[in-house]
Amino acid sequence: MRIPAALALDALRPLRPSPAARAWKELDLDALRHNAQVLSSRLAPGCKLMAVVKADGYGHGAAAVARCLQKSGVHAFAVACLSEGIALRRAGIRGLILILGYTPPEEAPLLRRWRLTQTVADENHGAALNAAGIPLRVHLALDTGMRRLGVPAEDTAALARLYGMKRLRIGGVFSHLCVSDSPEQPAQDYTQGQLARFTRAVDWLRDNGYDPGAIHIQASGGILRLPPQPCAYARAGIALYGVGSEGAADALEAGLRPVLSLRARVACVRRLRPGEAAGYGLAFRAERDTLLAVLSIGYADGVPRELAQNGGRVLLRGQSCPMAGRMCMDQLLADVTDVPGVRAGDIATLIGRDGALAIRAEETARRCGTISNELLSRLGPRVGQVVR
Ligand SMILES: *Cc1c(COP(=O)(O)O)cnc(C)c1O
Repeated sequence: MRIPAALALDALRPLRPSPAARAWKELDLDALRHNAQVLSSRLAPGCKLMAVVKADGYGHGAAAVARCLQKSGVHAFAVACLSEGIALRRAGIRGLILILGYTPPEEAPLLRRWRLTQTVADENHGAALNAAGIPLRVHLALDTGMRRLGVPAEDTAALARLYGMKRLRIGGVFSHLCVSDSPEQPAQDYTQGQLARFTRAVDWLRDNGYDPGAIHIQASGGILRLPPQPCAYARAGIALYGVGSEGAADALEAGLRPVLSLRARVACVRRLRPGEAAGYGLAFRAERDTLLAVLSIGYADGVPRELAQNGGRVLLRGQSCPMAGRMCMDQLLADVTDVPGVRAGDIATLIGRDGALAIRAEETARRCGTISNELLSRLGPRVGQVVR
């Protein structure tokens, strides 16, 4: 049978669009490895990095991030929930995967099947997991003052009861610091109080013949601002991605490098005469002869809509251009009047470097009244991914 030539040619064409066809994040894995190295060097001897890759690796792509780190010697990972843990195993991640959030006891068979380690959120949760009747690997969360998850650190009776639950394989005990990223004295005092409560609980366990296993308490703030702690792990999230939550100061001072850039294509360029307006609500009005570039990215891609009204900028051909008018769901406008030669297909940078200029995630987050963690973790699934 003869195959028509057109069909045969079709079969040779790529099936999927290029990830850089419209809007995409670009991952700099050298920067990721560098950051892991910098953070590891700040830990006590024997203390290992636990890479926090929840929320799809803070929007960076959990599988790509975890695979890269696994190759460079990281063997412990943390996620927020069961589905994220399973996705990591499916991506070929071995070693410890700790689920930091709640998993209902009905899901115990999946925890076991995928060799995931579950956080015990409180005594009730521990009892319910134990009652599932399946041996489970768990780490106990201790509440040392955040008042989120965890058994109250002083409640030694509850700790003893949890150690008596036969199905729970307690491989670690941890807590979370809630103001460790703050330079203010009251916050530092609070952190010292949390550390002391944690140490007291761990000492009580050891003194009473209960093995706490791998202990851990520092997250990014704690790694960057506290002296090395005598722990088995430090859980690094945002710092691993080379950015600070609220500002860039800590990340810059530590020599961390941003891993993610966010880019989008120019769809077309429009010419407006003075007095002409553009976009929803005609919110942009030209005061001079104006060139507007239409960029192929919008709020449905996770870029906060208010960015366009709050002084948001993009880089094009190495120059900084203001966003114009209201952001749309799938597009946004940028005023490129002062940048010669912008045309369809050009690449605009929303986060990252273009020539001598760079836009940092912290700066964009601040313009939108949020932190870089939220900005990055909300980048949507429609955004492609390119690994460098
Ligand atoms: C998210 C999270 C982390 C990581 O925090 P960063 O500040 O991003 O480093 C660590 N531990 C727990 C329990 C978390 O929920």
